[in-house]
Amino acid sequence: MKTIIEPFKIKSVEPLRFTTESERTDLLRIAHNNPFYLRSDDVLIDLLTDSGTTAMSSKQWAAVMDGDEAYAGSRSYFAFEDIVRDLTGFSHIIPTHQGRAAEKILFSIIGGEGKYIPNNTHFDTTRANIEFSGAKAVDFLTDIGKSPETIADFKGDMDIPTLIDFIEEVGRENIPLIMITVTNNSGGGQPVSMANIRAVRRVCDTYNIPLFLDACRFAENAYFIKLREPEYAHRTARDIAREMFSYADGCTMSAKKDGMVNTGGFLAMNDEEWAMKARNVLIITEGFTTYGGLARRDLEAMALGLDEVLDENYLHYRIRSTEYFGEKLTAAGVPLMLPTGGHAIYIDAKRFAPHIPVHQFPGQSVVCAIYRHGGIRSCEIGSLMFGKTDAHGVHQAPPMELVRLAIPRRVYTQSHIDYCIEVICEVYEQRHHLRGMTLQYEAPFLRHFTARLEYI
Ligand SMILES: *Cc1c(COP(=O)(O)O)cnc(C)c1O
Repeated sequence: MKTIIEPFKIKSVEPLRFTTESERTDLLRIAHNNPFYLRSDDVLIDLLTDSGTTAMSSKQWAAVMDGDEAYAGSRSYFAFEDIVRDLTGFSHIIPTHQGRAAEKILFSIIGGEGKYIPNNTHFDTTRANIEFSGAKAVDFLTDIGKSPETIADFKGDMDIPTLIDFIEEVGRENIPLIMITVTNNSGGGQPVSMANIRAVRRVCDTYNIPLFLDACRFAENAYFIKLREPEYAHRTARDIAREMFSYADGCTMSAKKDGMVNTGGFLAMNDEEWAMKARNVLIITEGFTTYGGLARRDLEAMALGLDEVLDENYLHYRIRSTEYFGEKLTAAGVPLMLPTGGHAIYIDAKRFAPHIPVHQFPGQSVVCAIYRHGGIRSCEIGSLMFGKTDAHGVHQAPPMELVRLAIPRRVYTQSHIDYCIEVICEVYEQRHHLRGMTLQYEAPFLRHFTARLEYI
């Protein structure tokens, strides 16, 4: 087998700014040991998120120039609507400025006190929007999906028996819809099988509950189905994606992921009455129905992005290059959550720095060390992000302490990734020097964004 190369060549480049380790030591101190406070100019390779960090193609940039900025009835809207309808089959396509705006609109219509929204795992903004409406967000991930050391094909699958028990317990009238997140971002970017989507659909049919996809990474999920579900091996990713959408009654989408743009999203559905209500909320909160919160040129870029993401040369490279990153680290003994998902690798900080207790933020200590050593920015997903202090001042840790290195789409080449592998391996060799941390400041909500930490 030959090397899998980046399936693009580079027309426009952006220089990287190099810093020294001693500069980064100072920068990190000034940033209170929280890389969210760093200026991106001080970051060499930014793996903080894959959201909105995509490199657009020359065709997308050309389409941006060609956007029709009419307030109503823009040609760019119809180009976007055609692409989304062709892909998803949904009747009503409502553009929004990003994914959470679609969530906000959907749950302000169908959420509310006494309602429950099941999902394999809700993403934070989805959960927050559901709970803001007064409803409860509930997760039904399989046990395998919750086990970081178990290698399995579809660790994003919904736990169907538990879902059914739950519906029986709270009553179908209290469940306005069921969601499936593809791929399961909060669970490590793990895919959901077509068999599982079909099984959830059957549950929805039995109880007459609509099914919505959180479709942010629909193309990566489709490609995993092609690779791992034998009956789909000879189908195209586009065909598989269409089948995934065919089992759903609607979707929310952040196009900052598989839409291959820097901002954008949409809400789509078949139900006429819900769509009418959604458009009314859209007009109040986002903008007119033919632009959402976007410039019309953004709709052009999104339409093309949704098409380009299904190119199998791209998807092959995307999934394989993430796997390559994970493979090399695993070979060096670095403990990861396995198998690697679509958009990121996750270091298991509990095994990376077992000498640091969870209340001293082992993940954040690894995040800081990786930045200090190599200028790479990553993100803690563990006690800093999800931990809580109870009434007795005791730290309540989440089940896992992870460090996420998310890979922007089409931005970094293999040599950038090889460099990241070297840096992480060197930090791993010196892991015994990693020290625990303590919080100096925390905000009441989403504390990881603004927290200030100090070494113990
Ligand atoms: C990013 C994301 C969202 C929210 O989208 P934004 O564009 O960031 O508002 C929702 N669900 C999942 C699974 C995501 O990854």
